[in-house]
Amino acid sequence: MKALVKTELGFGHLEIQDKEEPQVGKDQVKIEVIYAGICGSDIHTYEGHYKVGVPVTLGHEFSGKVVEVGEGVTEFKAGDRVTSETTFYICGECEYCKAGDYNLCNHRKGLGTQQDGGFAKYLIARKYSVHHLPDHVDDQSAAMTEPLACTHHAVMKTEINEGDIVVVIGPGPIGLFTAQVAKSQGAKVLITGLTNDKVRLDKARELGIDYAVDTQEKDINELVNSLTNGYGADVVFECSGAAPAAKQGLDLLRKKGQYGQVGIFAQPEVSFDLEKIIQKEIRVVGSRSQKSADWEPSLELMNNGSVNAKAMVTHQFDITQWEEAYQAIKSGKAIKVLLTPVD
Ligand SMILES: [Zn+2]
Ligand SMILES: [Zn+2]
Repeated sequence: MKALVKTELGFGHLEIQDKEEPQVGKDQVKIEVIYAGICGSDIHTYEGHYKVGVPVTLGHEFSGKVVEVGEGVTEFKAGDRVTSETTFYICGECEYCKAGDYNLCNHRKGLGTQQDGGFAKYLIARKYSVHHLPDHVDDQSAAMTEPLACTHHAVMKTEINEGDIVVVIGPGPIGLFTAQVAKSQGAKVLITGLTNDKVRLDKARELGIDYAVDTQEKDINELVNSLTNGYGADVVFECSGAAPAAKQGLDLLRKKGQYGQVGIFAQPEVSFDLEKIIQKEIRVVGSRSQKSADWEPSLELMNNGSVNAKAMVTHQFDITQWEEAYQAIKSGKAIKVLLTPVD
Protein backbone atom coordinates (compact mmCIF):
# COMPACT_ATOMS: atom_id res chain seq x y z
CA MET A 1 0.00 0.00 0.00
CA LYS A 2 1.06 3.62 -0.49
CA ALA A 3 1.79 5.72 2.58
CA LEU A 4 2.93 9.30 3.12
CA VAL A 5 6.01 8.92 5.29
CA LYS A 6 8.23 11.38 7.15
CA THR A 7 11.55 9.64 6.61
CA GLU A 8 14.00 11.84 8.54
CA LEU A 9 13.83 14.82 10.89
CA GLY A 10 14.48 18.31 9.55
CA PHE A 11 12.78 20.28 6.77
CA GLY A 12 11.00 18.16 4.15
CA HIS A 13 11.86 14.44 4.02
CA LEU A 14 8.26 13.57 3.23
CA GLU A 15 7.60 10.99 0.54
CA ILE A 16 5.15 8.43 -0.76
CA GLN A 17 6.45 4.96 -0.03
CA ASP A 18 5.27 1.45 -0.77
CA LYS A 19 4.69 -0.28 2.53
CA GLU A 20 3.51 -3.69 3.63
CA GLU A 21 -0.11 -3.74 4.74
CA PRO A 22 -0.06 -3.72 8.55
CA GLN A 23 -1.13 -6.89 10.40
CA VAL A 24 -3.68 -6.78 13.15
CA GLY A 25 -2.61 -8.09 16.60
CA LYS A 26 -4.37 -8.95 19.85
CA ASP A 27 -6.85 -6.28 20.98
CA GLN A 28 -6.23 -4.35 17.78
CA VAL A 29 -8.41 -3.20 14.91
CA LYS A 30 -7.34 -2.81 11.27
CA ILE A 31 -8.98 0.25 9.74
CA GLU A 32 -9.28 1.19 6.07
CA VAL A 33 -8.88 4.95 6.00
CA ILE A 34 -11.55 6.96 4.19
CA TYR A 35 -10.47 10.54 5.02
CA ALA A 36 -7.49 11.88 6.94
CA GLY A 37 -7.16 15.54 7.91
CA ILE A 38 -4.02 17.64 7.77
CA CYS A 39 -3.31 19.26 11.12
CA GLY A 40 -1.21 22.34 11.80
CA SER A 41 1.18 20.02 13.60
CA ASP A 42 1.69 18.02 10.37
CA ILE A 43 2.87 21.26 8.77
CA HIS A 44 5.27 21.80 11.68
CA THR A 45 6.47 18.23 11.24
CA TYR A 46 7.00 18.73 7.51
CA GLU A 47 8.94 21.92 8.15
CA GLY A 48 11.06 20.23 10.79
CA HIS A 49 9.93 22.22 13.87
CA TYR A 50 8.21 19.25 15.40
CA LYS A 51 9.83 15.91 16.25
CA VAL A 52 8.19 12.61 15.43
CA GLY A 53 9.48 9.02 15.62
CA VAL A 54 10.89 8.75 12.08
CA PRO A 55 10.36 6.93 9.83
CA VAL A 56 6.61 7.18 10.40
CA THR A 57 3.42 7.50 8.35
CA LEU A 58 1.83 10.81 9.35
CA GLY A 59 -1.89 11.47 9.83
CA HIS A 60 -3.55 11.49 13.26
CA GLU A 61 -7.04 12.71 12.29
CA PHE A 62 -9.00 10.18 10.29
CA SER A 63 -12.17 8.23 9.70
CA GLY A 64 -12.53 4.80 8.16
CA LYS A 65 -14.10 1.41 8.30
CA VAL A 66 -13.04 -1.71 10.10
CA VAL A 67 -11.64 -4.41 7.79
CA GLU A 68 -10.32 -6.90 10.33
CA VAL A 69 -10.15 -7.35 14.09
CA GLY A 70 -7.55 -9.12 16.20
CA GLU A 71 -7.97 -11.72 18.92
CA GLY A 72 -9.95 -10.43 21.88
CA VAL A 73 -11.92 -7.84 19.92
CA THR A 74 -15.71 -8.27 20.19
CA GLU A 75 -16.61 -4.57 20.21
CA PHE A 76 -16.02 -4.10 16.48
CA LYS A 77 -16.54 -6.08 13.29
CA ALA A 78 -15.64 -5.68 9.61
CA GLY A 79 -17.65 -2.91 7.98
CA ASP A 80 -18.14 -0.78 11.12
CA ARG A 81 -17.71 2.95 10.54
CA VAL A 82 -15.14 4.26 13.00
CA THR A 83 -12.61 6.84 14.05
CA SER A 84 -9.80 6.37 16.54
CA GLU A 85 -8.16 8.32 19.29
CA THR A 86 -4.51 8.95 18.57
CA THR A 87 -3.41 7.03 21.66
CA PHE A 88 -1.68 3.84 20.51
CA TYR A 89 0.47 3.03 23.52
CA ILE A 90 0.37 4.25 27.13
CA CYS A 91 2.27 2.97 30.17
CA GLY A 92 -1.03 2.34 31.96
CA GLU A 93 0.71 2.71 35.32
CA CYS A 94 1.44 6.37 35.93
CA GLU A 95 -1.01 8.54 37.88
CA TYR A 96 -2.10 10.24 34.66
CA CYS A 97 -2.93 6.97 32.94
CA LYS A 98 -4.84 5.79 36.00
CA ALA A 99 -6.91 8.97 35.91
CA GLY A 100 -7.59 8.61 32.16
CA ASP A 101 -5.34 11.58 31.36
CA TYR A 102 -3.54 9.70 28.58
CA ASN A 103 -2.51 12.97 26.94
CA LEU A 104 -0.16 13.54 29.91
CA CYS A 105 1.49 10.09 30.06
CA ASN A 106 5.26 10.43 29.51
CA HIS A 107 5.36 7.15 27.63
CA ARG A 108 2.42 7.74 25.34
CA LYS A 109 2.89 6.84 21.66
CA GLY A 110 0.46 8.38 19.23
CA LEU A 111 -0.78 7.39 15.79
CA GLY A 112 0.72 9.57 13.10
CA THR A 113 3.59 10.75 15.30
CA GLN A 114 5.34 7.71 16.84
CA GLN A 115 3.20 5.00 15.27
CA ASP A 116 2.08 4.76 11.62
CA GLY A 117 -0.99 6.90 11.08
CA GLY A 118 -3.76 7.70 8.62
CA PHE A 119 -2.03 9.00 5.48
CA ALA A 120 -2.19 5.46 4.07
CA LYS A 121 -4.76 2.92 2.96
CA TYR A 122 -4.75 0.98 6.24
CA LEU A 123 -3.67 1.50 9.81
CA ILE A 124 -3.79 -0.41 13.07
CA ALA A 125 -5.43 1.06 16.19
CA ARG A 126 -5.87 -0.39 19.66
CA LYS A 127 -9.49 -1.32 20.31
CA TYR A 128 -9.66 0.88 23.42
CA SER A 129 -9.06 3.93 21.24
CA VAL A 130 -11.60 3.14 18.51
CA HIS A 131 -15.07 4.75 18.45
CA HIS A 132 -18.15 3.85 16.44
CA LEU A 133 -19.53 6.72 14.37
CA PRO A 134 -23.06 7.89 15.20
CA ASP A 135 -25.54 7.85 12.28
CA HIS A 136 -25.54 11.58 11.66
CA VAL A 137 -21.75 11.93 11.56
CA ASP A 138 -20.53 11.61 7.97
CA ASP A 139 -17.06 10.31 7.07
CA GLN A 140 -15.58 13.76 6.38
CA SER A 141 -16.78 15.19 9.68
CA ALA A 142 -15.64 12.07 11.52
CA ALA A 143 -12.10 12.63 10.25
CA MET A 144 -12.10 15.84 12.31
CA THR A 145 -13.12 14.25 15.61
CA GLU A 146 -9.55 14.55 16.91
CA PRO A 147 -9.17 18.33 16.51
CA LEU A 148 -12.72 18.77 17.80
CA ALA A 149 -11.83 16.64 20.84
CA CYS A 150 -8.80 18.90 21.47
CA THR A 151 -11.10 21.92 21.64
CA HIS A 152 -13.64 20.06 23.77
CA HIS A 153 -10.75 19.34 26.13
CA ALA A 154 -9.85 23.03 26.28
CA VAL A 155 -13.42 24.22 26.82
CA MET A 156 -13.99 21.65 29.59
CA LYS A 157 -10.97 23.07 31.44
CA THR A 158 -12.92 26.29 31.93
CA GLU A 159 -16.29 27.01 33.43
CA ILE A 160 -18.73 28.60 31.03
CA ASN A 161 -22.17 29.75 32.14
CA GLU A 162 -25.22 30.55 30.03
CA GLY A 163 -24.84 33.98 28.47
CA ASP A 164 -21.11 34.34 29.20
CA ILE A 165 -19.08 36.36 26.72
CA VAL A 166 -16.33 34.17 25.27
CA VAL A 167 -13.61 35.48 22.96
CA VAL A 168 -11.75 33.04 20.72
CA ILE A 169 -8.57 34.48 19.22
CA GLY A 170 -7.52 32.88 15.94
CA PRO A 171 -10.05 31.60 13.36
CA GLY A 172 -8.20 28.50 12.13
CA PRO A 173 -9.83 25.05 12.43
CA ILE A 174 -9.05 24.89 16.17
CA GLY A 175 -10.49 28.35 16.78
CA LEU A 176 -13.61 27.59 14.71
CA PHE A 177 -14.17 24.37 16.68
CA THR A 178 -13.50 26.06 20.04
CA ALA A 179 -16.04 28.76 19.16
CA GLN A 180 -18.67 26.16 18.28
CA VAL A 181 -18.06 24.12 21.43
CA ALA A 182 -18.22 27.26 23.59
CA LYS A 183 -21.52 28.19 21.93
CA SER A 184 -22.88 24.73 22.71
CA GLN A 185 -22.28 25.61 26.39
CA GLY A 186 -24.58 28.60 26.10
CA ALA A 187 -21.96 31.31 25.60
CA LYS A 188 -22.16 34.30 23.30
CA VAL A 189 -19.00 33.93 21.21
CA LEU A 190 -16.73 36.42 19.46
CA ILE A 191 -13.99 35.06 17.22
CA THR A 192 -11.17 37.35 16.12
CA GLY A 193 -8.70 37.34 13.26
CA LEU A 194 -6.71 39.62 11.00
CA THR A 195 -7.59 41.01 7.58
CA ASN A 196 -5.89 38.10 5.79
CA ASP A 197 -8.12 35.69 7.73
CA LYS A 198 -11.13 36.87 5.72
CA VAL A 199 -12.04 33.39 4.42
CA ARG A 200 -11.99 32.04 7.96
CA LEU A 201 -13.94 34.90 9.49
CA ASP A 202 -16.58 34.52 6.77
CA LYS A 203 -16.72 30.82 7.64
CA ALA A 204 -17.25 31.70 11.31
CA ARG A 205 -20.29 33.80 10.32
CA GLU A 206 -21.60 30.94 8.17
CA LEU A 207 -21.23 28.64 11.20
CA GLY A 208 -23.38 30.98 13.28
CA ILE A 209 -20.68 32.39 15.57
CA ASP A 210 -22.19 35.54 17.11
CA TYR A 211 -19.42 37.95 16.12
CA ALA A 212 -16.51 37.42 13.70
CA VAL A 213 -14.19 40.38 14.10
CA ASP A 214 -11.30 41.58 11.96
CA THR A 215 -9.25 43.30 14.68
CA GLN A 216 -7.35 45.36 12.10
CA GLU A 217 -10.66 46.90 11.05
CA LYS A 218 -12.65 47.00 14.25
CA ASP A 219 -11.78 47.83 17.86
CA ILE A 220 -12.32 44.56 19.70
CA ASN A 221 -11.93 46.15 23.17
CA GLU A 222 -14.75 48.53 22.41
CA LEU A 223 -17.01 45.73 21.18
CA VAL A 224 -16.33 43.52 24.21
CA ASN A 225 -16.90 46.46 26.55
CA SER A 226 -20.17 47.33 24.84
CA LEU A 227 -21.39 43.75 25.28
CA THR A 228 -20.34 43.49 28.94
CA ASN A 229 -21.16 46.91 30.48
CA GLY A 230 -17.46 47.61 30.45
CA TYR A 231 -16.53 44.57 32.55
CA GLY A 232 -14.71 42.53 29.89
CA ALA A 233 -14.94 38.98 28.56
CA ASP A 234 -15.67 36.07 30.90
CA VAL A 235 -13.41 33.62 29.06
CA VAL A 236 -10.71 33.99 26.39
CA PHE A 237 -9.32 31.08 24.38
CA GLU A 238 -6.07 31.91 22.61
CA CYS A 239 -6.00 29.61 19.57
CA SER A 240 -3.51 31.39 17.30
CA GLY A 241 -0.20 30.83 19.11
CA ALA A 242 0.79 34.41 18.32
CA ALA A 243 2.50 36.25 21.20
CA PRO A 244 0.62 39.57 20.72
CA ALA A 245 -2.66 37.63 20.86
CA ALA A 246 -1.80 36.31 24.32
CA LYS A 247 -1.29 39.86 25.54
CA GLN A 248 -4.52 40.98 23.93
CA GLY A 249 -6.37 38.10 25.60
CA LEU A 250 -5.38 39.31 29.07
CA ASP A 251 -6.51 42.84 28.19
CA LEU A 252 -9.93 41.67 27.04
CA LEU A 253 -10.69 39.67 30.19
CA ARG A 254 -12.81 40.89 33.06
CA LYS A 255 -11.63 40.57 36.65
CA LYS A 256 -11.92 36.91 37.72
CA GLY A 257 -11.95 35.96 34.03
CA GLN A 258 -10.52 32.72 32.66
CA TYR A 259 -7.78 32.45 30.06
CA GLY A 260 -7.26 29.20 28.13
CA GLN A 261 -4.09 28.74 26.07
CA VAL A 262 -4.77 26.37 23.18
CA GLY A 263 -2.52 27.64 20.37
CA ILE A 264 1.11 26.54 20.33
CA PHE A 265 3.73 29.28 20.19
CA ALA A 266 6.60 29.20 17.71
CA GLN A 267 8.91 30.33 20.54
CA PRO A 268 8.19 28.61 23.86
CA GLU A 269 8.98 31.68 25.97
CA VAL A 270 6.38 34.36 25.58
CA SER A 271 6.23 37.48 27.72
CA PHE A 272 3.03 37.41 29.69
CA ASP A 273 1.81 40.13 32.02
CA LEU A 274 1.73 38.39 35.41
CA GLU A 275 0.87 41.68 37.07
CA LYS A 276 -2.38 41.67 35.14
CA ILE A 277 -3.07 38.10 36.24
CA ILE A 278 -2.65 39.18 39.87
CA GLN A 279 -4.60 42.41 39.67
CA LYS A 280 -7.51 40.92 37.74
CA GLU A 281 -7.38 37.55 39.55
CA ILE A 282 -7.30 35.78 36.20
CA ARG A 283 -7.29 32.01 36.06
CA VAL A 284 -4.91 30.70 33.40
CA VAL A 285 -5.13 27.15 32.10
CA GLY A 286 -3.24 25.26 29.42
CA SER A 287 -4.78 22.52 27.32
CA ARG A 288 -2.74 19.79 25.71
CA SER A 289 -4.24 17.61 22.99
CA GLN A 290 -7.27 15.52 24.09
CA LYS A 291 -8.06 12.50 26.19
CA SER A 292 -10.42 9.56 25.94
CA ALA A 293 -13.24 11.31 27.80
CA ASP A 294 -13.40 14.02 25.11
CA TRP A 295 -14.26 11.67 22.24
CA GLU A 296 -17.84 10.53 22.75
CA PRO A 297 -19.01 14.06 23.67
CA SER A 298 -17.28 15.38 20.54
CA LEU A 299 -18.98 12.81 18.31
CA GLU A 300 -22.30 13.71 19.96
CA LEU A 301 -21.75 17.45 19.31
CA MET A 302 -21.50 16.65 15.60
CA ASN A 303 -24.32 14.11 15.71
CA ASN A 304 -26.79 16.56 17.25
CA GLY A 305 -25.75 19.42 14.97
CA SER A 306 -24.14 21.64 17.63
CA VAL A 307 -20.88 21.49 15.70
CA ASN A 308 -20.65 21.63 11.92
CA ALA A 309 -17.30 20.13 10.95
CA LYS A 310 -18.09 19.39 7.32
CA ALA A 311 -18.49 23.07 6.45
CA MET A 312 -14.86 23.61 7.42
CA VAL A 313 -13.52 21.37 4.65
CA THR A 314 -12.30 23.58 1.79
CA HIS A 315 -9.93 21.24 -0.05
CA GLN A 316 -9.52 17.56 -0.73
CA PHE A 317 -6.57 15.74 -2.31
CA ASP A 318 -5.25 12.22 -2.44
CA ILE A 319 -2.06 11.47 -0.48
CA THR A 320 0.14 11.64 -3.59
CA GLN A 321 -0.94 15.29 -4.02
CA TRP A 322 0.41 16.30 -0.63
CA GLU A 323 2.51 19.13 -2.06
CA GLU A 324 -0.62 20.79 -3.48
CA ALA A 325 -2.30 20.30 -0.11
CA TYR A 326 0.67 21.92 1.61
CA GLN A 327 0.54 24.89 -0.77
CA ALA A 328 -3.20 25.31 -0.23
CA ILE A 329 -2.62 25.53 3.52
CA LYS A 330 0.37 27.86 3.26
CA SER A 331 -1.51 30.19 0.90
CA GLY A 332 -4.13 30.87 3.60
CA LYS A 333 -6.93 29.87 1.22
CA ALA A 334 -7.69 26.61 2.96
CA ILE A 335 -9.44 26.03 6.24
CA LYS A 336 -9.48 22.25 6.61
CA VAL A 337 -7.77 20.01 4.07
CA LEU A 338 -8.57 16.29 3.89
CA LEU A 339 -6.49 13.62 2.19
CA THR A 340 -7.76 10.35 0.77
CA PRO A 341 -5.71 7.15 0.38
CA VAL A 342 -4.66 5.59 -2.93
CA ASP A 343 -4.21 1.89 -3.69
ZN1 LIG B 1 -3.60 17.55 15.31
ZN1 LIG C 1 1.21 6.56 31.79
